[in-house]
Amino acid sequence: MSTSESSGQDQAGFAAAAAAGIHRLAVPTPFAVGRVNCYLIEDEPLTLIDTGPNSGKSLDELEQALATHGHAVEDLELIVITHQHMDHLGLLEILARRSGAEVAALHLLEPYLARFPENQAADDDFSQAIMRRHGIPADMVTVLGGIGSAFRAFGSRGKVTRRLHDGEVLRLRDRSFSVLHRPGHSPSDTIFWDQERRMLIAGDHLLAHISSNPLISRPLGGVTDGERPHALIQYIESMQATRQLPIDLALTGHGDPIHDHVALIDERLRLHRRRAEKILRMLEPAPLTAYEIALKMWGNVAVTQAYLTLSEVLGHMDLLARDGLVRERDNGDVVRFEAAG
Ligand SMILES: [Zn+2]
Repeated sequence: MSTSESSGQDQAGFAAAAAAGIHRLAVPTPFAVGRVNCYLIEDEPLTLIDTGPNSGKSLDELEQALATHGHAVEDLELIVITHQHMDHLGLLEILARRSGAEVAALHLLEPYLARFPENQAADDDFSQAIMRRHGIPADMVTVLGGIGSAFRAFGSRGKVTRRLHDGEVLRLRDRSFSVLHRPGHSPSDTIFWDQERRMLIAGDHLLAHISSNPLISRPLGGVTDGERPHALIQYIESMQATRQLPIDLALTGHGDPIHDHVALIDERLRLHRRRAEKILRMLEPAPLTAYEIALKMWGNVAVTQAYLTLSEVLGHMDLLARDGLVRERDNGDVVRFEAAG
């Protein structure tokens, strides 16, 4: 299997994982992020963490990667899903059907995955409403909606047969993982901590080379109190909790493992503080929409990145609002933010 296009160059990190029976399988995705890391755990039951997206190419490469370790899809006994994004779960339905494996995921994901296409459509409607409220031009929202539905086929529905809860222990023959819910990047982010080996399966909660974006997502369970989810505030709380864990190696959903999660988290927290300060200065002359702030921060970003950057700006607005430094001004149509000083 070629790994040339993945950033997985950290041979020592992956070798340490392999010595513990955990093999990284880098599966291609059609997304800007590049390959997704699935992990095969040679234990009882034989376990696969995440599946890769729903495509023939991904399935083909996943099967080849399993074969290099002497396994086939049919051998899988347990599939664990780290979070709700389609690059991590798109092959779930196919793999579960072929293997008969048990499927374990955070309890919140059970209804979400059972009706995945419907939930994806509702998520897209939710993000389009957020974009319009925060000043993204209507024609751009339409284009983004089209891109969203074009990619939807890379996901799939799936049946969760074992619902996991925050704080419980997932036991295999040779190891135990503490199941920890760490929302922020997505509402369902779940990490798996092997306390004995000081190893973490991190999903996209932490990534070594790119800041893991706290996307504004429709709350799971469909409960909306009219308020926008505060993804960055939630994400910072989640990172602070993870910072406390003794970990030597964190295996991530994309790219290389993390050896010093404390340094990485501290760097991310510093970055968020600096960005919030920068945005606050932008608001001094006049109130701005989140989209106008994003344009000032990143220029005319690629259309496909618009929701990402909007989520980022809104996250910082939530931080500043919490500290009493900005206020929202809602004209019933578009929301503007103003400095409260
Ligand atoms: Zn993700």
